Amino acid sequence: MAKAPQVSLGACGLTMPVLGMGTSSWPPADPETAKLAIIEAIKAGYRHFDTAFTYGSEQPLGQAIAEALRLGLIKSRDDLFITSKLWSSYTDRDQVVPAIKMSLRNLQLDYLDMYLIHLPLKLSQEIRKTPVPKEILMPLDIKSVWEGMEECQRLGLTKAIGVSNFSPRMLEETLAIAEIPPAVNQVEMNPLWQQKKLREYCNAKGIHITAYSPLGANGTKWGDNRIVECDVLEDIAKARGKTTAQVSMRWVYEQGVSIVAKSFNKERMKQNLEIFDWSLTEEELERISQLPQRKGFLISSILGAHDFTLQLDDEI
Ligand code: NAP
Repeated sequence: MAKAPQVSLGACGLTMPVLGMGTSSWPPADPETAKLAIIEAIKAGYRHFDTAFTYGSEQPLGQAIAEALRLGLIKSRDDLFITSKLWSSYTDRDQVVPAIKMSLRNLQLDYLDMYLIHLPLKLSQEIRKTPVPKEILMPLDIKSVWEGMEECQRLGLTKAIGVSNFSPRMLEETLAIAEIPPAVNQVEMNPLWQQKKLREYCNAKGIHITAYSPLGANGTKWGDNRIVECDVLEDIAKARGKTTAQVSMRWVYEQGVSIVAKSFNKERMKQNLEIFDWSLTEEELERISQLPQRKGFLISSILGAHDFTLQLDDEI
């Protein structure tokens, strides 16, 4: 059984499997399909799972964990690293603890390993559908929401806290008021959106980056096939006897970040774990680093065509 190596998360003192299984699917998987896929993933060796209140995958993940314990696939819940995220409708200070408790109920767990602010914005209404209507988009009060996040960690509801889709500017604001600095910034990253400036900033500040959509979210409504059909990646894959998906994920891994990739397909989830016993050559890394870049697509698919430049800048 293949296993991902562990990565240290710096100041918070945690370690985390460097590859996690994403659970956001398109078209949305029914709960039973998601549960069975997660059980397969545990059998394949995945020990890190990425969910969010808004994905609707917390419940099937919780059921899969309970089933894996019953089946003896894992000895205890502590064998897993579970990340979930605070949705943007609950970002006032007094909403954060109730929101994590709701996620914990969905997951049938007592604690999370990592709790992230999902997006650097606030929604003035309870809504999960994207793109969100412009009228309900508001700037995030970072002091208010971060105090709520810190309370979650102090109460033992999560071992660590972090953010997602935060630019250097938003991170700077967070660090200025934080008593507990964010351990992680989870952002879109792959060979076609390499996040060089953001990575430099996070390295300097000791904030670990987790890359989502490492395969360009192939086949989803928010992504496309530009990674799995990228000529340069395909060329390297052929020469190395790998798939383009593996080359993309290996490149991401070699940048010193962790990864969350989603596959509910038994063969592909195994394939995605097989990136740790080989490496790219200097020349291959150089070719990939020269690939033309395009702006991350997830944020625009959430925000639609809105000009929401208030808090998001070019870096995410
Ligand atoms: P991704 O992991 O880049 O791509 C997933 C898509 O690629 C799925 O359609 C999957 O289909 C397909 N796929 C998986 N392995 C493959 C392979 N070896 N070859 C070809 N196709 C393959 O994109 P993602 O789901 O957007 O990102 C991963 C996870 O990151 C999400 O599930 C979620 O947990 C997290 N995420 C977080 C945020 C955020 O705002 N923080 C945003 C987006 C995603 P099959 O299942 O059929 O294999």
